[in-house]
Amino acid sequence: MNEFSLRKNIIKYSKLLNQTNLSPLRSGNISARYKDGFLITPSGVKYKNLKPKDIVFVNLKGIFKKGKNKPSSEWKLHKDIYLDKINSKAIVHCHSKHALILSCFKKKIPPFHYMVAVAGGEDIKCAKYATYGTSELSKNIIKALNERSACLIENHGQVSFSNSLPEAFELAQEVEYLSEQYLGCLRTGKPKILSKSQMQKVLLKVKNYKQD
Ligand code: 13P
Ligand code: ZN
Repeated sequence: MNEFSLRKNIIKYSKLLNQTNLSPLRSGNISARYKDGFLITPSGVKYKNLKPKDIVFVNLKGIFKKGKNKPSSEWKLHKDIYLDKINSKAIVHCHSKHALILSCFKKKIPPFHYMVAVAGGEDIKCAKYATYGTSELSKNIIKALNERSACLIENHGQVSFSNSLPEAFELAQEVEYLSEQYLGCLRTGKPKILSKSQMQKVLLKVKNYKQD
């Protein structure tokens, strides 16, 4: 995809953050890998007002032009994921309601349902709290993303990456549904948790699940 199409795609999915209730108002941020860096939503701008020129390019050394728009305050987190996960092409960070509620109780999502495997492991971890936009936060998130492509962020929300923007967005939606379902289970009691061997079978199978 060329740069202009990538910029337009980032705007399309940023608007969907609000429209699908994945992230309210100005919260969350989206990026796509491009050349020796990535294109990312600007900080604190309402998604409905975004224009392709407002999307900011940041290189993998963390350098960006001092223009009208500053990049998202979470640009360090995006940079560190692109550096650590060589196959990552797009990242979605959001404050989705149920993932955020779980994150406030420091709860990881255990394998209460086999679909937990969509994030690449037998559970979805919760990264330790640090102030938003800091290197400390990105360090905690990289740890929680070990062998995973999504995690919760304590007292904050969630983050997902994948090999395309639609895939990263869909994964963020899956994490939100799983969080809602898990919270529903917790309201009823202590759900049965799948065993390691049950999840190992799913982890092998789920890789070939999608056909489009
Ligand atoms: P930005 O508007 O700077 O991207 O911040 C939103 C956010 O979710 C910070 O964690
Ligand atoms: Zn955030």
